[in-house]
Amino acid sequence: MSDQGLGLTYNKLEEQLSKNGFSKSFAELIFKKAYRRPTFKGWEDGRMSPKLLSFLEQLDWKRPTILQTHQSSDDTIKFLFGLKDHRSVETVLIPFYRKDTVCLSSQVGCAMGCRFCHTGTQGLSRSLTTSEIVGQYLAAWDWAYHKRMNGTKAPNIVFMGQGEPLHNFDQLKESIDLITDPRGLDLSHRMITVSTAGYLPGLKRFSELGGVNLAISLHSAIEEKRRELIPISKNWPIESLMKEIDQIKLGRKQVILYEIMLAEDFNDSKEDALALSKLLKNRPHMANLIPFNPYPGSPWKRPNDQKIEAFKSQLVEFGIRTTIRKTKGDNIMAACGQLKT
Ligand code: SAH
Ligand code: SF4
Repeated sequence: MSDQGLGLTYNKLEEQLSKNGFSKSFAELIFKKAYRRPTFKGWEDGRMSPKLLSFLEQLDWKRPTILQTHQSSDDTIKFLFGLKDHRSVETVLIPFYRKDTVCLSSQVGCAMGCRFCHTGTQGLSRSLTTSEIVGQYLAAWDWAYHKRMNGTKAPNIVFMGQGEPLHNFDQLKESIDLITDPRGLDLSHRMITVSTAGYLPGLKRFSELGGVNLAISLHSAIEEKRRELIPISKNWPIESLMKEIDQIKLGRKQVILYEIMLAEDFNDSKEDALALSKLLKNRPHMANLIPFNPYPGSPWKRPNDQKIEAFKSQLVEFGIRTTIRKTKGDNIMAACGQLKT
């Protein structure tokens, strides 16, 4: 197999160039061609020698291949990407009024085994490489660039696809470094959100990610309930989770997003809202209610819209800033927790 090209950080690319007898200064031009626009137009360039061209062509710049796309009635697009080892992974492009958002996967499957999550039921196959993470983004944007009205703008990113991003920390960090590199894609850190089930070894290193937004899958402020939903949380009780979160330096106006998956008659009572408000009230927060997305054989029920609204009102009354996540793409199983390959 040829050496890695896509996914090399700027420093690693410079190293590769010097090692092979080329000037490091070509890294800038190469980054421009590889990352400035989603559509790759080839390496030909008057400034590169034939030797450098053939070196670049030998490297592996291939993105994951689109095996299938599904478009839902609300224009959400789900991509099934094929990887080199014939595994596959799902990525979702979510249209918003001004700008699209890409929901990236960080692993094939997930080791956390949350009880309410379709991905969690399949276990972890493996973590994705930097090239595969960045490749998903470029391939999804490239698709949108040609097919969608808003597609020319670089989409925002949420790491809310398959996998626990902080359980693949080094690759996640490299991908974010690469995607935010001003010489390449140049996204701002604030355009990126990392969602975690509360994997503490990764959370301890969160500041290394350079100011991206953090979303915590809290789901319940009541220890036993949270443990029932997220089995790994038995290692890291809510108190130690919050202690870690409180140490994270936030930018101006930046808040932490707390995701609350709402399941009927499980965590949608007044008592649940009260516990959440006690926990979040004096912390920079935004609560985001995610009505449970059912999948075949799932053990929970989604509360009806009236109950969801009532839960929201209760939280607001208790002083919690709350939004409800509009479920997008659920008719094609592209909504949160429905991704499974
Ligand atoms: N692994 C990360 C990110 C991916 S999941 C995490 O757990 O945070 C993105 C969000 O969808 C998480 O908040 C997750 O808890 C939630 N989710 C998973 N399955 C769901 C389901 N069936 N219904 C509603 N939300 C779900
Ligand atoms: Fe993994 Fe997130 Fe699903 Fe839990 S909710 S199993 S952490 S993908």
